[in-house]
Amino acid sequence: TATEQDLDARTKTLDKAHVFHSWSAQAALDPLVVAGALGSRVWDHAGRTYLDFSSQLVNVNIGHQHPAVVAAIQEQAGLLATIAPSTANLARGEAARRITDRAGDTMNKVFFTNGGADAIENAIRMARLHTKRDKVVSTYRSYHGNTGAAVVATGDWRRVPNEYARGHVHVFGPFLYRSEFWATSPEQESERALQHLRRVIEVEGPASVAAVLLESIPGTAGVLVPPPGYLAGVRELCDAHGIVLILDEVMAGFGRAGEWFAHDAFDTGRGPDLIAFAKGVNSGYVPVGGVVISDEIAADFDETVFPGGLTYSGHPLAAASIVATLDAMESEGIVDHARSIGADVIGPGLRELAERHPVVGEVRGLGVFWALDLVSDAETRTPVAPALIGLAKKEALARGLVPFAADNRIHVVPPCVVTADEVAEALAIYDDVLTLLDKEIS
Ligand code: PLP
Repeated sequence: TATEQDLDARTKTLDKAHVFHSWSAQAALDPLVVAGALGSRVWDHAGRTYLDFSSQLVNVNIGHQHPAVVAAIQEQAGLLATIAPSTANLARGEAARRITDRAGDTMNKVFFTNGGADAIENAIRMARLHTKRDKVVSTYRSYHGNTGAAVVATGDWRRVPNEYARGHVHVFGPFLYRSEFWATSPEQESERALQHLRRVIEVEGPASVAAVLLESIPGTAGVLVPPPGYLAGVRELCDAHGIVLILDEVMAGFGRAGEWFAHDAFDTGRGPDLIAFAKGVNSGYVPVGGVVISDEIAADFDETVFPGGLTYSGHPLAAASIVATLDAMESEGIVDHARSIGADVIGPGLRELAERHPVVGEVRGLGVFWALDLVSDAETRTPVAPALIGLAKKEALARGLVPFAADNRIHVVPPCVVTADEVAEALAIYDDVLTLLDKEIS
């Protein structure tokens, strides 16, 4: 109706006049208006609906407007909408227990933050205080958040204009399709990436390295599933030099990879010392993140003051939403569903598209965490030009699908609750879009 179209227009006008957007030059922005959502779909005021194959910023793992999570937030708001972090609160304790239950036996404490970046920030702080060392080694192909140390630990382009923190060193992680190590097999890639990391630690001075910080599966960098032996090898290297291993599970955790923690899909030896989480832990219904802390590191602060805190650490609305999210994911088998729909439907569907479309260079992923690496030449693996990704985004939206695009890739990252029918609908849209892109590169 006219009124509903007016609301879409008014939303755009207000946005244009007053909202300053992330990571963007502001002038040319034309954001999608979203007025409501349910499950794997979003819609505007006028009722145009879209399949959400972005899960927004790869965070709405449980799908939009899960009724149990919405009800838990409403109930908690009625009971106690906010309270200081220095108090003890039942919802906060229940949330922390549900998270530590899913981490290793020797990880029993959670420090809650407002999101992923400050989880990384505090994990780095803990590693530095624990080791009394300074340097943090992370990978070029990574994103760890937009605050002080997190953005400098980040390897991608967003680090460069923000390099005001010190003590950060970057390495190349394993990525066979675009190997930095001339490797021709996953085993070789793993071995050589480990040798590179070992050498960097040696020449930086192992006694100056506080932490190795890795995304369990680098996400924004292209869903780079680690090859066999890599994470276990990193764990061994850290142990050899007394270095803390921080795994960033902000994007990969809580169902995205078909596991509670993505690193559970791989051998990690005795596991990480610190885990940063956010996003999927409550699907972003209320902003929250945190650090799961090993007993050994937590014990450092038994008698010594931890020099960190946030007004909203362990906010009751966030805590209640975590409890409801994790309970619903458990009782509805949502993590298992993510794993099996990835293995049985999404993976095979995307590989079938890759066979027919020359523009698809590689399909990678697991669970509901996939990337199509798009190339203008399959031989040289030359990434497609940014204009083609712009075209793909526009054409996907025009066909009713919200895509997630990064560099030369389309990431196929629906909510964990996506159905086989919705995947089929999305595959048909990707098929059309890829047909257009094939023409552009031929
Ligand atoms: N770490 C990873 C792996 C991420 O993907 C992100 C966000 O995309 C972050 C950290 C930062 O999280 P936030 O945006 O909640 O600060």
